Amino acid sequence: MTTTAHQTALIIGASRGLGHAMAEELVKRGWHVMGTTRNSADTPLHGLSQRLPERVHIEHVDITMPDQIAALHARLAGKTFDMLFVNAGVTNNPQETIGEVPTEEFIRVMVTNALSPMRVVEALYGLVADDGMVGVMSSGQGSVSNNTNGMREVYRGSKAALNTFMRSFAARHRDGRAMVLMAPGWVRTDMGGADAPLTVEESIPNVVNTLLGARGKPGLQYLDYLGRTVPW
Ligand code: NAP
Repeated sequence: MTTTAHQTALIIGASRGLGHAMAEELVKRGWHVMGTTRNSADTPLHGLSQRLPERVHIEHVDITMPDQIAALHARLAGKTFDMLFVNAGVTNNPQETIGEVPTEEFIRVMVTNALSPMRVVEALYGLVADDGMVGVMSSGQGSVSNNTNGMREVYRGSKAALNTFMRSFAARHRDGRAMVLMAPGWVRTDMGGADAPLTVEESIPNVVNTLLGARGKPGLQYLDYLGRTVPW
């Protein structure tokens, strides 16, 4: 994936849902994509890779396992990507308040959504082209300013923490690469559920437009799928 004949993306957490849809959308636009799954061998990403084996490659990582991140980094040594996008995330019971959540559940959500994406960014940043971009899947729920009604308290906290960690990372890396925290909208996926107002098709092509539009703009932006700045 070091050729310059086409653009290349590494999407962490691309087995299904929004990550898989991003892979599919980038491939439609002529990109080559390496997407990661955890262990399962039969995911929508596998179907995409079987249809387009030259353009879609599969790697493996559970982002909560630092040894797996290190092993992925070692396997990718020498490759360069135009885009690194960390999509993987989880949620918990949205009704559960911070006063109710069991400690283990709090740890699961915070470690998966805040600490682990940053470990991936820290480990794989060097694989991103000098004029490339790093995206991380945040959420509108991560906005502190927009939190006027509570709900999804633990998930909100995890994405707000992710946003803050990414700001610290960006402050340490003022080197020309573009960085985006993405709020994709509330989308009908396994996580988003059937009540979400947006289909994947309404969100993801716009997410990709927004990411591609941010290239060449160094520094960190917190943007929604329509390219609008989200208040921190
Ligand atoms: P989803 O359908 O539940 O998919 C989640 C993805 O994350 C899957 O590919 C899953 O892999 C992967 N993942 C979870 N934990 C992982 C881990 N420890 N290591 C590696 N991969 C892991 O959810 P989605 O709706 O597509 O959401 C994707 C991202 O968008 C998440 O970060 C989510 O917080 C964010 N988001 C979603 C919405 C929405 O409305 N859907 C809104 C705002 C933000 P497996 O297949 O192996 O489980």
